Amino acid sequence: VNILAIETSCDETAASIVTNGRLVRSSVVASQVEIHQRYGGVVPEIASRAHIEKIYQVVEKALADAEMKPSEIDAVAIANQPGLVVSLIVGVTAAKSLAFMLGKPLIAVNHVHAHLQSAIIEDSQLELPAIALIVSGGHSNIYRCSSAVNLELMGRTIDDAAGEAFDKVAQILELPYPGGPSIEKCAQNGNSKAHRFPRSMLGKDSLDFSFSGIKTAVLYHCNGQDMKGQSLVPNMSGQEKADIAASFQAAVVEVLVKKTMLASKRVSARTIVMGGGVAANTALREAMQAECDRRHLKLLIAPKKYCTDNAVMVASLAYEKYKEGLFADMTLEAKASS
Ligand code: ATP
Ligand code: MG
Ligand code: FE
Repeated sequence: VNILAIETSCDETAASIVTNGRLVRSSVVASQVEIHQRYGGVVPEIASRAHIEKIYQVVEKALADAEMKPSEIDAVAIANQPGLVVSLIVGVTAAKSLAFMLGKPLIAVNHVHAHLQSAIIEDSQLELPAIALIVSGGHSNIYRCSSAVNLELMGRTIDDAAGEAFDKVAQILELPYPGGPSIEKCAQNGNSKAHRFPRSMLGKDSLDFSFSGIKTAVLYHCNGQDMKGQSLVPNMSGQEKADIAASFQAAVVEVLVKKTMLASKRVSARTIVMGGGVAANTALREAMQAECDRRHLKLLIAPKKYCTDNAVMVASLAYEKYKEGLFADMTLEAKASS
């Protein structure tokens, strides 16, 4: 079964063809990073327009790279929620048109659940029960998984998402957008023990996250309490910045690992699954691996290339729905939340 998937939830225009949910035939991702970089973040209307301009050639390239004809496609998949509605709507419209034109079923998937799927594309041996941690630009969710498609939300952020915290702290440190990779790079030469930023646990039994406090702590640190808002960052040495970045990263990683382990203990999990843009972070990957090794838990992390937005994860998850005959119809709409 060949599934052609489209992903336009944020600022990546992506298309992919995956056979039987596992065999990746093509994966095309047109990033808008350069377009949004000068605004320091994604501007929805500009993102939407860029999707419209790129979607056709991205789908064409996905077919060409896979060396497939449109007639060889068995279903068209789309992530229709959650995300920026003006962006999602471009992909939803394209997917509906394609499905209609080809006379093939349409499959709608949840973008955040698809992030989880990217961790099990290459290794699907999920020993159950499993705990999934999805850390992305808009979400920090902990799920209990009774199967790849059966997820029960156990915890989420009450304010900023983990990726959002990386992006905002990068902005404070005047590092380029997107913030996650910039912070990771900057932190490489830093001392993670230089500063002790707060680790907000929201009570010892809570599985929810809060990352706005740590962002504010970094802001105060960089503005100097008595500087009346004037940033010290332009006069900081590279080492000072690196120490802040490394200390911030260590605090976020510590909280993410601790909460995941708390959830794991609660359901006696045998596998931990991790995906989403922040899962590309090496410090997080290493810390999670070390903790899982210590506790004899199996850890499945999305390969770095599938951590941030892509359409492979959408096609792969759509295959699970295909097998169950869970199809969408032409009334499908884009939705901001899920
Ligand atoms: P969502 O999936 O919640 O709708 P999104 O699609 O915008 O949000 P992703 O594409 O999954 O998010 O991930 C992007 C986020 O991941 C950004 O916040 C980015 O800073 C962060 N990120 C990417 N690479 C890294 C990294 N190496 N370290 C930390 N964070 C990273
Ligand atoms: Mg993006
Ligand atoms: Fe995403």
